[in-house]
Amino acid sequence: MLPPGSTIGMLGAGQLGRMTALAAARLGYRLHVYAPDAADSPCAPVCARATVAGWDDRTALAAFAAAVDVVTLEWENVPVDTVEFLAERVPVRPGAAVLAVTRDRIAEKSFANGLGIATAPWRPASGPGDVALARDAIGPHCIVKSNQLGYDGKGQARIGPDTDIAAAWRSIGSDSCVVEGFVDFTCEVSVIVARRGDGAMAVFPTVENRHRNGILDRTLAPARVPPATAAEAERVARRLADALGVVGLLAVEMFVTKDGRVLVNEMAPRPHNSGHWTMDACATSQFEQFVRAICGLPLGSTDLLMEAEMENLIGDDVERWAAILAEPDARLHLYGKAEARPGRKMGHVNRVTPRR
Ligand code: AMP
Repeated sequence: MLPPGSTIGMLGAGQLGRMTALAAARLGYRLHVYAPDAADSPCAPVCARATVAGWDDRTALAAFAAAVDVVTLEWENVPVDTVEFLAERVPVRPGAAVLAVTRDRIAEKSFANGLGIATAPWRPASGPGDVALARDAIGPHCIVKSNQLGYDGKGQARIGPDTDIAAAWRSIGSDSCVVEGFVDFTCEVSVIVARRGDGAMAVFPTVENRHRNGILDRTLAPARVPPATAAEAERVARRLADALGVVGLLAVEMFVTKDGRVLVNEMAPRPHNSGHWTMDACATSQFEQFVRAICGLPLGSTDLLMEAEMENLIGDDVERWAAILAEPDARLHLYGKAEARPGRKMGHVNRVTPRR
């Protein structure tokens, strides 16, 4: 167990790191961030220390490893070499093996399917010819996604029966993709599981996610799904976290089909945008739970105390901050980003109401 007073090293310096730093500080921990862009980042004003250096700067990485008690991350695409170099010097939670699965869609889907957990039907593709074959096998409506480094709907193309596949392939700009069957879902849900090194787990209730332009717009907690569907989503998330041996958090995004099945879409081994509602409506926030899990502390209660709706403030949405503050049930969280570019997550608001 890492006691309060210890220093947590965080790779990445965005809003997830910021909110982790605030939760860590409340429990008496210090957060030291490491990122090439840490200087003017959401973390800089709230963390104990920031190292501004490249992912391949071995001198800076060694000094960082010597200055912290454990390393974690808020961005799973940190280069593997960086994580391995650090892991030789200091515990990294979650470890390189978890990252290898969750950063790669083919590895992720193969892992889930290997456990008997369903995903949309999928095929790997390394060129437009593979996409055409996959469409023949899966059905006329598909989505092509870059295998790595895709997020918020980036690096994706919808394919229909008449789509120019060569043009769609070029628009993605990756030579390794997956082709997935288009799921006619009733809703999207997600579950966040915390897991400690000794295998203890705690799961947050299933929530419902609504996207706009490929970006999460709102999370509703709890999800408006039958109890059996919510329980199945939680079972799947626990099974994945346990089989991966995650130490920290695992967020699992899933589709609920018209016939009530739960299909895994993506996993992220870190705090997740769809868990921001926990900050104001749960006994323990996902960020505090993250700190507890990586430090080996008792995991907190995941009971939902209030119903919540989280709204992301994207780009210019943030200009509504004063009106939001005037709402009695709204809790505003801003990330301190100077420039509100389109598509940029600037903050979020949790609207909480007593449980019905
Ligand atoms: P992703 O980057 O995989 O999370 O995809 C972003 C969003 O695109 C998802 O949250 C869904 O709203 C939508 N989407 C992704 N894959 C599929 C699919 N196979 N079928 C239907 N919608 C999808």
